Amino acid sequence: MKIIETLSEMQAHSRADGKGCVLVPTMGALHRGHLELIRVARERAGSGGEVAVSIFVNPLQFEPGADLEKYPRPRQQDEEACRAAGVTVLFRPTANEMYFADRSVFVEETKLSNGLCGASRPGHFRGVCTVVTKLFNLLQPDAAVFGEKDYQQLAIVRRLVRDLNFAIEIIAVPTVRDADGLALSSRNQYLSTSERTEATVLFRTLQRSKEHVQHGETSPEKLVSLARQMTAETKGARVEYISIVDGATLEPVKQVRANAVMLLAVFIGKTRLIDNLRLA
Ligand code: AMP
Repeated sequence: MKIIETLSEMQAHSRADGKGCVLVPTMGALHRGHLELIRVARERAGSGGEVAVSIFVNPLQFEPGADLEKYPRPRQQDEEACRAAGVTVLFRPTANEMYFADRSVFVEETKLSNGLCGASRPGHFRGVCTVVTKLFNLLQPDAAVFGEKDYQQLAIVRRLVRDLNFAIEIIAVPTVRDADGLALSSRNQYLSTSERTEATVLFRTLQRSKEHVQHGETSPEKLVSLARQMTAETKGARVEYISIVDGATLEPVKQVRANAVMLLAVFIGKTRLIDNLRLA
């Protein structure tokens, strides 16, 4: 596995190689969710194909006062996990390497980014689109793998690729969960033992909502109201949003049909967690 930390070396490698790669962009602190993305990338690249993982805690996508400083960065462990998973290139730039101090060009998606997580995290998706564009330019992948866990991000990246004509296939991977349903996330490390138990409320709420739909409920207002009641029963949980949207456009739906997805963001203590589930 080749480890690259500078932009010039990354560009030189992509140019010299010329055979493309499958890219898995991450912020590190790799868990089984990331490893599943890497497995899918490995499969898509085929034997002998290049699988590149980027590990970059992107300051542009953290709001002031968010967890940028305390975000976990287990360098050695991540490196070993990548090596064991068959990654051929690990791209690991620093923030100073990645961004000019006087940077003045950003990439912004202006429609799908406004609601849901975008409503409470202004600038977050601009940071995501900017870094993903830079990674696409630097690594020149044929395909890139993203998790459905970050559903809005996935929809925005698809739009970015479509609207800016990147010839890159976007591959979506279903959310990997712990045995009790909690979606794996690097931020789960912040949870205390009691909070970890409370955090199961996200998936329980999603599953219960899906059951209501299976029993015939089609009103998004009713479903969201029931979901809010359910989360309210968990002492440490504070809902940021619960929404039911069209899976492709992220527009709120008037009635729950085949493409409806419930998305939620819930604080467990100080830790903000997100999850989503297809309802029908
Ligand atoms: P992150 O390191 O949190 O920025 O995530 C990097 C990529 O891994 C994103 O495409 C995420 O959607 C994906 N990812 C994170 N957690 C999971 C999970 N539990 N299951 C599947 N994909 C995930």
